[in-house]
Amino acid sequence: ARASLRQSSLLPRYMTTAATQNACEPHEPTFLKSVEAYFDNAAQLSNVSKGTLGHIRAVDSMIRVTFPIELDNGETEVIEGYRAQHSRHRLPVKGGIRYSEEVDLQEVEALASLMTFKCAVVDVPFGGAKGGIKIDPKRYTVDQLERITRRYTMELCQKKFIGPGVDVPAPDVGTGPREMSWIMDTYRQFNLSDVNSQGCVTGKPLEQGGVRGRTEATGLGVYYGIREFLTYPEVQKSTGLSGKMKDATVVIQGFGNVGYYAAKFFESNGAKVIGVGERDCGIYDPEGLDVEALFNHHRENGTFKGYSDKAEILEESVQILERECDILIPAALERQIGLRNVDKIKAKIVGEAANGPVTPAAHAALEKRGVVVVPDLLLNAGGVTVSYFEWLKNLSHVRFGRMNKKWDESVRTKLLNVVEENAGRTLTEAERKQIVHGAEEADLIYSGLEDTMISSCEETRQTANLKKVDYRTAAYINAIQKIGAVYEGSGMIF
Ligand code: GLU
Repeated sequence: ARASLRQSSLLPRYMTTAATQNACEPHEPTFLKSVEAYFDNAAQLSNVSKGTLGHIRAVDSMIRVTFPIELDNGETEVIEGYRAQHSRHRLPVKGGIRYSEEVDLQEVEALASLMTFKCAVVDVPFGGAKGGIKIDPKRYTVDQLERITRRYTMELCQKKFIGPGVDVPAPDVGTGPREMSWIMDTYRQFNLSDVNSQGCVTGKPLEQGGVRGRTEATGLGVYYGIREFLTYPEVQKSTGLSGKMKDATVVIQGFGNVGYYAAKFFESNGAKVIGVGERDCGIYDPEGLDVEALFNHHRENGTFKGYSDKAEILEESVQILERECDILIPAALERQIGLRNVDKIKAKIVGEAANGPVTPAAHAALEKRGVVVVPDLLLNAGGVTVSYFEWLKNLSHVRFGRMNKKWDESVRTKLLNVVEENAGRTLTEAERKQIVHGAEEADLIYSGLEDTMISSCEETRQTANLKKVDYRTAAYINAIQKIGAVYEGSGMIF
């Protein structure tokens, strides 16, 4: 009865998430235990001392909060929220806030530790954190979600678990720019004298201090990362792939913010997206799907069913993972590829756009078969990379590009001519300024992200080749060594 009181709001695209079922055997480790196992395996191959390793591995601090929310019928509901700060070797700590019924302290801890290693892999000078609220956002109205978000932020403020120099949240599964805006506004009410309050959260809408490119950053980073790995001769040898993006076939599980944008970038760069899985079902067409049309169909109908006569509909989202393809992108939740389905995976590359989608035993089985696994802490680090750019912009209080040499006049003119032609009218001076500033910022963000992904992929690859380990172990080794150097060089071990 309570559910019926909450009108389901029309959800923006970033609020869709995929499968909730996982593909693990009961004896497979939990998500947290998996991250710890990956860490331990890499730790013994690093040059960091035992004491420091213990310090890096352990979560620094966690909170669990509960608070009441009044529903529209006057009843109250107790909501549960969490935030884990995994490693404060650098401040602020950074990581998203997830709204999902599966959220618990263990999941948040696992995700926070992944954030620590992720930031180190892409040289983003932050520690790792993650938060979550145990709700299914689809079951609440926008007004209720706002109240829940603001109340949770008040708890974070009280406990000093938020602030531009302390802990900076961002979007994750079930949240997006709208929630980040509420978080910033609430933080500001409690910290009026904080001149840097805009930097207390990233992933904000543009008008609230966000940057161009943040929304699509994770998906774009996934594309850049896979593009790089495709060019490595050792990857081509092990997978038999040609190295060309053109005509490579891609299956994506999850059509939320990460999966949707990854699909768009694969498609616009010549790959063929042949399968997509969402929470309710999957769709597969070896001839290729039209990403935008499919996305619109799903948004309007809440399902892929009815999209086309020739595409095959799969009743369960996880089934999409087992389809024939070159590149498989799990972009939904953790533990989607486990011992139950790993033998049915036919992809040649598995690119972890989600956090923790492959269990350790499944990873080992894939590696044994020559499948290349591009790990989460590297492949989906585009989001936090652009969050870092946003935070820098907020703290510097200046528009990117304002203090640089202006673009060549001919570049600006060319751009404005195209926009004017499309608009079919002459632009005002204010519009011209806005367009040029926006394009300058987007250019900086996109190129900064591309550069980061290229060099981090290469760094991971070099360690993998040098130490003769898989890419996940290599990425962890690099992260552990960077974090270890900070701890050991700063006297932070007591
Ligand atoms: N939630 C994203 C992640 O898992 C982004 C975190 C951030 O930007 O701080 O990487």
